[in-house]
Amino acid sequence: MSKLKRVYSFGNKTAEGKADMKNLLGGKGANLAEMSLLGLPVPAGFTITTEACTEYYENNCTLHPDLMPEVWDAMKLTEKTMNMKYGDPENALLVSCRSGARKSMPGMMDTVLNLGLCSVTIPGFLKKTNNPRFVWDSYRRLIMMYADVVMEKAEGIDLGEGRGIRKQLDELLDEFKKQKGYNLDTEITADELKFIAEEFKKKIIEVLGKPFPDDAKEQLEGSIKAVFKSWNGKKAVSYRRIESIPDDWGTAVNVQTMVFGNMGDTSATGVAFTRNPATGENLFYGEWLINAQGEDVVAGIRTPNPLNDETKNEQNKHLHSMEEAMPQTYKELCDIRNILEKSFRDMQDIEFTIQEGVLYMLQCRTGKRTGTAALNMAMDMLQENLIDEKMAVLRVDPGQLDELLHPICDPEAESKVKPVVRGLPAGPGAAVGKVVFTAEDAVIWYRKGEKVILLREETNPEDVEGMRAAEGILTARGGMTSHAALVARGWGKCCIVGAGALNVNSKTKTAKIAESNIVIKEGDIITLNGTKGNVYTGELTLMDASENPRFKEFMSIVDKHRTMGVRTNADTPDDAKIARDFGAEGIGLFRTEHMFYGKGSEEPLFLLRKMILSANVTERRKALNDLFKYVKKDMKATLEAMDGLPVTFRLLDPPLHEFVPQSTEKQEELAKALGIQKEDIIKRGEALHESNPMMGHRGVRLGITFPEITDMQVRAMLEASMELIKEGKKPHPELMVPVTCDVSELNVTKKVVDKVHDEVCKKYEVSKIDFKYGTMIEIPRATLLSDKMAKTAEFFSFGTNDLTQMTFGFSRDDIGGFLNDYLDKNMLATDPFQTIDQEGVGQLITMSVQKGRATRPDLKIGICGEQGGDPASVEFCYKNNLTYVSCSPFRVPIARLAAAQSAIKFGK
Ligand code: ADP
Ligand code: MG
Ligand code: MG
Repeated sequence: MSKLKRVYSFGNKTAEGKADMKNLLGGKGANLAEMSLLGLPVPAGFTITTEACTEYYENNCTLHPDLMPEVWDAMKLTEKTMNMKYGDPENALLVSCRSGARKSMPGMMDTVLNLGLCSVTIPGFLKKTNNPRFVWDSYRRLIMMYADVVMEKAEGIDLGEGRGIRKQLDELLDEFKKQKGYNLDTEITADELKFIAEEFKKKIIEVLGKPFPDDAKEQLEGSIKAVFKSWNGKKAVSYRRIESIPDDWGTAVNVQTMVFGNMGDTSATGVAFTRNPATGENLFYGEWLINAQGEDVVAGIRTPNPLNDETKNEQNKHLHSMEEAMPQTYKELCDIRNILEKSFRDMQDIEFTIQEGVLYMLQCRTGKRTGTAALNMAMDMLQENLIDEKMAVLRVDPGQLDELLHPICDPEAESKVKPVVRGLPAGPGAAVGKVVFTAEDAVIWYRKGEKVILLREETNPEDVEGMRAAEGILTARGGMTSHAALVARGWGKCCIVGAGALNVNSKTKTAKIAESNIVIKEGDIITLNGTKGNVYTGELTLMDASENPRFKEFMSIVDKHRTMGVRTNADTPDDAKIARDFGAEGIGLFRTEHMFYGKGSEEPLFLLRKMILSANVTERRKALNDLFKYVKKDMKATLEAMDGLPVTFRLLDPPLHEFVPQSTEKQEELAKALGIQKEDIIKRGEALHESNPMMGHRGVRLGITFPEITDMQVRAMLEASMELIKEGKKPHPELMVPVTCDVSELNVTKKVVDKVHDEVCKKYEVSKIDFKYGTMIEIPRATLLSDKMAKTAEFFSFGTNDLTQMTFGFSRDDIGGFLNDYLDKNMLATDPFQTIDQEGVGQLITMSVQKGRATRPDLKIGICGEQGGDPASVEFCYKNNLTYVSCSPFRVPIARLAAAQSAIKFGK
């Protein structure tokens, strides 16, 4: 048996790994290897596999005995390449120990820099660099990071909110600066930094009861374990849940030679995107800082400089760009940008460091982007022949399309007001909401149904869940490439960072705006314009982003690659029109009962009530007769709006008791119309009361008891259809019977339908009117007996709301009481009413499709539950050979894209 290989080396223009080994080496490790292979200047190092991480967890959080020997072997190769030695007294090599999962989780796991500094190596390192300030600065950073990541977090020590060791050491440093009257870190002298490092070490013993290890080997081993541990850190777990990343993937660990951006004014560090991640514009976009270490940029502590002149913005236009300050290195970086885009054929997010004028690449990954940017980049790259059509279709996340149709600030309204504060436009679009000051509050308020804006001092990866819950995010510090900006952008959230004039106090939950007397308090409503970086107090009018020709062009490519149909759930002719504009190819669900709610429902509702409370068939027939013309009118207008496309009309579904009038006034009015007493109304209403109406007298059962109700609806549908045909139109009505559990229900109903069909034919002197007769599949029994159901039904449509409710036994209307507990306790990965539970409900669907088509091979099958517009559910429907999905009008483009992507990914 060959030995399991746990460590892969890279550097010196070669590597043992490559880009497509992300599962084993993590995204960072695989791309470090790839960049080495591309001949880019990558500091040498090695990657410990994700398998070694899962092994670590399987072995009760201990390293496999073979791992460290393999690590030290790989270290030898790195030492040879870099011509330095780890832990050497004369010529010490320092390394970083970096996390890196398969999918990037920006800032969610831990990294330790400057490993290898200890009393053995420091004297030689001082001599070699001849830069004591740099050495002591690096040393105190190491101590701080190591204490935080390895000694506190990885050990699972919880020192309480705001009492973490990092915070305490930070306070110590601030205190020192205050005493000396310093403003900036750079004012602290070398000797003082040395002194601070000693103070740090004392503080660590005092707080954590253990000394900071003064041994290079011990430092590395501790860090490797800590990075493994950070896979299960609180923020990483939260982020994984939101992004649906499996818990068992594990993280790789990258050990890499340190290069230093903090060695003086010819050194620097930066982060860049090969194209603008907010707009998609094909311009090299980034931020950098002179004399700093990498984490300074991403942590959002200093406002960074712009990379080049063409991408300067309001906030940083007075700062030097790299193009101005280091033109030669900038050009080199531009060349690397081109090499990376050609090789990865996508926008890359890169980290680089310049050590005394020499450029090094530390990371590259596919960059997160807004929906707008994703669309623009896909279309640009298609034009540039960098990618083909299929690739372009796959480049836009269906969830992000939503954001393209998202609101922006109405420019008219915006021109009339002045922003109270401005920041960097990190995530475009607009957001209005009530201000909260902690991530926790954001979640709590969100669950109460409030729209919130999360206002924070700085961008902190610990806040992910609050960021997720917020409509928009506003921070006082941080740059465009800060972690929070990345995360927000990935989610298409409106986000403004670095609004420096905000003085945030999260204890009193207020934010004072400098040089004004404005104070923003918890609960205040504010508006963010994330496209411009403007913040307004109060609520500004928002409007839909205007028709975007690029979007239309993209969607036409999408449709070229799509095979499954996309319909919409629309209950009014107006909705039908909107959906048609969004590209719906028919209506998969028209709910007749919706004409009894809302605008213009007075008269039909009154007639419906009359019908419901009728004492006998004659009364009921009369009421139905009056109702008929309203139903027919609505059906006709809908068929007309969808001319040439199918419209599925569902027979009246809800339990009748829902429509019984409750107010005295309405009861009296109805009593008068029926010529009876108000008390009789109440009595008849009570008679309809059910203890479990969801499973009561509803759906097909209504028509079984009162065939005249079915009669009226079928007649309305067929007559509407005939009238349209006479007007030269092409109606395609489909009649759908809800809540069935047995084919006999379909057969009994069909008799009524056939009878009405014959009568309407006679009236219009035709021999036949085309329509389809089918059923909604929403009771588990109907899925079990689908072979029989298909004998009568010409089509199925999965009503996955009810099917989910009845399969789980979770009442849709009461789920609010317990669903969050199931999600919080990780008992359910997602809300099954939003995305199909493929494991359970999905089995029923798969079986139903097979049984149904065994009886009737050309059986049309769709889905009309809420999940029909959810990308994962659309993919599931595609894999199960559904004919179409049907969803709400605004989700039609999302479903189209998801369907096209499924066809590209899984098509024959
Ligand atoms: P994250 O995934 O959270 O970005 P990284 O592993 O990329 O974490 O490291 C955090 C910061 O430290 C980054 O800015 C990175 O560029 C910097 N860094 C990591 N390793 C090195 C190294 N070997 N030399 C210099 N800087 C480094
Ligand atoms: Mg990084
Ligand atoms: Mg239903």
